Amino acid sequence: MNIPTSQALFEKANQFIPGGVNSPVRAFKAVGGTPLFIKSAKGPYIFDEDGNRYLELINSWGPMILGHGHELVEKAVSDAVQHSFSFGAPTRREVEMAERIVGMVPSVEKVRMVNSGTEATMSAIRVARGFTGRDKIIKFEGCYHGHADSFLIAAGSGAVTFGTPDSPGVPKGVAQDTLTAPYNNLEAVQLLVDANPGQIAAIIIEPVVGNMGCVLPETGFLEGLRSICDKEGIIYIFDEVMTGFRLSKGGAQERFGVLPDMTTLGKIIGGGMPVGAYGGKEEIMNYVSPAGPVYQAGTLSGNPIAMAAGLAMLDYLDTHQEIYLQLDQSGVKLAQGFRASMEKLGLNYTVNQIGSMYTLFFTDQVVRDFPSAKSSDLGLYGKYFHAMLNRGIYLGASQFESMFLSTALEDSHLEEIMRANEESLKEIL
Ligand code: PLP
Repeated sequence: MNIPTSQALFEKANQFIPGGVNSPVRAFKAVGGTPLFIKSAKGPYIFDEDGNRYLELINSWGPMILGHGHELVEKAVSDAVQHSFSFGAPTRREVEMAERIVGMVPSVEKVRMVNSGTEATMSAIRVARGFTGRDKIIKFEGCYHGHADSFLIAAGSGAVTFGTPDSPGVPKGVAQDTLTAPYNNLEAVQLLVDANPGQIAAIIIEPVVGNMGCVLPETGFLEGLRSICDKEGIIYIFDEVMTGFRLSKGGAQERFGVLPDMTTLGKIIGGGMPVGAYGGKEEIMNYVSPAGPVYQAGTLSGNPIAMAAGLAMLDYLDTHQEIYLQLDQSGVKLAQGFRASMEKLGLNYTVNQIGSMYTLFFTDQVVRDFPSAKSSDLGLYGKYFHAMLNRGIYLGASQFESMFLSTALEDSHLEEIMRANEESLKEIL
């Protein structure tokens, strides 16, 4: 791959930006090499500063479910900028956005807009703590809920990629209120709850994990957590920053038919702009200031340009639900293609896939939790990543990430990805 401009930019970036990137997962540190500096994107493709074209399986880590530069989102944004960029006052579109989210996400009765997924999760646990009067939360090993202090404990995504699932800088006093359990292990959760009676404010979970790679909940797991929460008066929070509007129009909760008390959202909800949201049952959300005592605020929250982009996106998804069938079919086709290639090559690696999320794990273990995800051969993933990149396929630069398909990927693109996959596997083994 000829990338002199990316290399020059990265060298300069390192002078001015820690590690040369504004978010760790963008660095190619785990796989080696220089991150691509992206100039533009359209439909299923992104283009780097050197004019190389790649088929997209990251899609901005999820938001671009319709591919890049969707005309309705573009139009909504260019219309919105005619009226200035921020007012710090209520706007019509915020009301429309809230109404749309409540209409689409089954368990959400009221919602507050914020600017990122991290703000959404951080605020949700504050509300859960305020509502219950309890301090402790339970999260799952390998799940990532953004970079707020309470969540950087046994965290997935970039935190595990860079060897800091428990980040320095998180005060001990905060860390001790975050209890962790293995994913897909109900007994472990019950033990934690029994050992901390009346002290757990919330259980927060990625209902399908994207951040240790794609890991699915086993039958009964999400339901079992629901009953533990019901019995113990614990607030059940689905972090649907990745899965919201992706696994179905109503997210994982609609797909699995399990309703949480609170939901956090991000990514797709902004159509590519920086947006997050948290919502839930009315009695809980009425604890949020100024309706209630739990303080949470934001100068740019509900920003008019971001709301225009997000609304255009959600309007489209709500009125074109057939895309979820298309995305499911694309996901299944890729997973089956990968498995068929591996069978041909005598390999036994694990492909986890649901809808438009998937990860090829370089392990022959069933990947159902953090230890099994971490049994993957990370060196081999790095080689595979570069072999795919050289064939024009842009993947997440870490084993501990999910890939995200978009509706812009047509059959011919999927064939190209499967061909590249088979050639790459042959090349690296
Ligand atoms: N929750 C989940 C499940 C995520 O995947 C992420 C980010 O990838 C976040 C929260 C944090 O979102 P943001 O990066 O917008 O702060």
